[in-house]
Amino acid sequence: MKTGFIGLGAMGAPMAGHLHARGLLTVVGNRTQAKADALAAELGVRAVVSAADYAECDLVVLCVSADADVLQNVQALSEVLKPGARVVDHSTVSAETAREAARILTARGIGFLDAPVSGGAEGARNGKLSIMVGGSESELDAVRPALEAYALRITHMGATGSGQCTKAVNQVLVAGINEAVCEGLAFGEKLGLDPAKLLPTLGAGAAGNWFLDKRGASMLRREYVPGFKCAHLLKDLNIVLGMAKAVGVSTSVIEHALADYARLVERGLGDADTSALIELKREG
Ligand code: NAP
Repeated sequence: MKTGFIGLGAMGAPMAGHLHARGLLTVVGNRTQAKADALAAELGVRAVVSAADYAECDLVVLCVSADADVLQNVQALSEVLKPGARVVDHSTVSAETAREAARILTARGIGFLDAPVSGGAEGARNGKLSIMVGGSESELDAVRPALEAYALRITHMGATGSGQCTKAVNQVLVAGINEAVCEGLAFGEKLGLDPAKLLPTLGAGAAGNWFLDKRGASMLRREYVPGFKCAHLLKDLNIVLGMAKAVGVSTSVIEHALADYARLVERGLGDADTSALIELKREG
């Protein structure tokens, strides 16, 4: 399976590396060309200069920033890929964007799966991502050997868009957990508790969770290296809010978190990790 990879950021670069380790990676592309050139040189694959360089790919994997980036790449790929090729999108975007991408590609006989991921940058580095997939099950079976290169779990959730719907639910939990952990740790600081004792004590009980485990120590050191950028969670929460309002469900957690990440982005912390939220909590 000749595979191309587009979007070589915190998630995409290590995922492309896992495909390379399995002998599947042929070409890599990225908006900022220097990143593609550097990874291509490191791995000994080709860096893409135009969409035509993907023409021979059986599979192209996307992990780009936002909805417009997905649709722009999908449009370009629809013009060069051969019928029977497949595109898998790991970016977090709306379910409607996934359906639009599928419409563009299937009109040309190209398969499409929306397959957002969870597990953070360390999940991408360790090859332990949870992948939530929407689209045809037979298309998923065809690309499974590639996805297994960086998956802890692959779940077929249903028709096109249901991967992104699952990710939207995931992001409500992520946003709420981040709020609670950042508020709790800021509270612990003000009470003068010893972080060396506080973190393992909380982690061993009912309050233990991924975010506390992976980001607790670094946020107490005031280090916010992404990880997962505040600007990306703000983008996700805007998508999630629209979806939640459309189906009619409480949006209090979503709206609170959305306002917080909007403030962080306004302060120039869009590229900081989402654990920078503790800065707002420290202000009281
Ligand atoms: P990132 O570090 O900002 O990387 C995004 C990459 O995509 C950058 O290298 C960027 O290029 C490239 N890109 C953006 N638009 C492009 C386009 N139109 N064409 C080609 N390349 C393009 O973001 P990330 O953290 O890897 O996240 C990527 C996606 O996965 C996002 O949708 C995010 O919400 C989602 N996600 C992230 C995490 C996480 O923990 N980080 C977890 C799950 C899901 P430049 O070099 O020009 O910026």
